[in-house]
Amino acid sequence: MDTHTSDSKQAANELKTPAKLLRMFMAHTPAAVAMCDRKMRYLAYSQRWARDYGLGDENLVGRCHYDLFPDLPGHWKDEHQRCFGGEIIKKEEEPFPRTDGTTDWVRRELCPWRDTSGKIGGLIMFTEVITKRWQIEKALKDSEEQYRNLFETATVGLYRSRIDDGQILLANQAFAEIMGYDSPDQFYENFKTTEHYADMNRRRELLRRLNEHGRVDGFEIMSIRPDGTHTEIAVSAIIYPEYGYIEGCIIDMTEKKQAAREKEQLQAKLQQAQKMEAIGTLAGGIAHDFNNLLMGIQGRTSLILADIRSDHPHYEHLTEIEKYVGSAAELTRQLLGFARGGKYQVVTTELNELVESSSRMFGRTKKEIVIERNFAENLWTVDVDRSQIEQVLLNIYVNAWQAMPTGGTLRIHTANVRLDKKFVKPYNAGTGDYVNISIADTGVGMDAHTIKKVFDPFFTTKEKERGTGLGLASAYGIIKNHDGIITAQSEKGQGATFNIYLPASEKQAGC
Ligand code: ADP
Ligand code: MG
Repeated sequence: MDTHTSDSKQAANELKTPAKLLRMFMAHTPAAVAMCDRKMRYLAYSQRWARDYGLGDENLVGRCHYDLFPDLPGHWKDEHQRCFGGEIIKKEEEPFPRTDGTTDWVRRELCPWRDTSGKIGGLIMFTEVITKRWQIEKALKDSEEQYRNLFETATVGLYRSRIDDGQILLANQAFAEIMGYDSPDQFYENFKTTEHYADMNRRRELLRRLNEHGRVDGFEIMSIRPDGTHTEIAVSAIIYPEYGYIEGCIIDMTEKKQAAREKEQLQAKLQQAQKMEAIGTLAGGIAHDFNNLLMGIQGRTSLILADIRSDHPHYEHLTEIEKYVGSAAELTRQLLGFARGGKYQVVTTELNELVESSSRMFGRTKKEIVIERNFAENLWTVDVDRSQIEQVLLNIYVNAWQAMPTGGTLRIHTANVRLDKKFVKPYNAGTGDYVNISIADTGVGMDAHTIKKVFDPFFTTKEKERGTGLGLASAYGIIKNHDGIITAQSEKGQGATFNIYLPASEKQAGC
């Protein structure tokens, strides 16, 4: 017989009495348990119990639980009484104040025990200190809540979508709003991937890039809102193929893009205004000198013509020279109009009357054109050189007539308008009260290229005899000299509209 077998035999002998066996079992149970009688005196307990509650090594059998824990909360004592009444009490998570001021978290269970006659002899307490687990769970809950708050209140749109079909699995408030919905719930109910992309190729491209690089930054897509309007959004996202989803954020770029476009347009208009000014200065300088030269040629030709008879072999050439000089003088007159320079005879004028008379005169010669007039009552007066403004109107009428070879309608209307900073800025003009003359035709219209150049001197789309490209250039120059604004709007095949704005005068007409 070896020592090992004799040892275990001896232990088995010692444990033969059930009471001893039970005490050993109780003492070594790897859980905190204690058995009390109805006076809450300890009958048995596990070592773990003594350890967990810092009760030391001293034998506790016979000691009262309440003496060991004098600060035990009253409701715990009530529970003991309920347990003596037969109730089983379970608490999943409860704070347990320690004498050193710290708090532990415990899971507890109380259940009554009965003697052989079935009477309740006391209770069995089981507790588990779960402070560590409780702390971890709390930290997790806290951080989850923090992230949920961050997610819900973020001003950028956050989302999670399924890779396969683009279905949005999770979205925050900002995301729903950017997409044109009131709330994430409304969004989940109504959203369809195929209806949301203005161009499904962009989703394919987004997926391609995500698959290739794992992420995208600022990928732009055009999204359609439920009301049909378009939103330009920039997506930054990461793909998780192992989970089958994409997570990312979106930013609404619509306003930013619009602002950039407006800035670009403003820049282009300003550049155009500066260019016109430069050409105007140049043209003015040349036109004056050129006009003087023409007057010289005209004078000399007249002198020779006065000296010869009409059957002279050079007579016809000389009269032709006179005609050419006449056309050249007309050209310079237009150029001078375009050129920067003073207004000549400025008179405070009632524009309705000027527009009326000039358009009637024009209408008499062009019967195929219907002229509709809509003049504002009490139109403010303007300080203008009447003949120059007439020339501007005439140039516009003639262009309209040429744009309507088979006839059409010319709509002329006048109005008092107040121009704000946003409107006048590209034209380098002042804000305030203006009189507006609008002239619209139903002609062939202009494409984008033509409309860009419409006021450029010498820009014409007409054949040599019909166009010089100076009509609108001089109109531009004249209106500019009056501190006014002239604009053109048109689309190919849609007619054209010219708007003239002249600063309102404070004076009465005729001054
Ligand atoms: P021109 O009439 O001598 O060509 P303008 O300066 O008067 O020169 O006009 C420049 C160009 O602008 C025209 O050749 C034409 O292409 C375009 N244009 C002007 N007015 C109109 C209009 N009402 N409809 C269509 N195109 C127009
Ligand atoms: Mg013209």
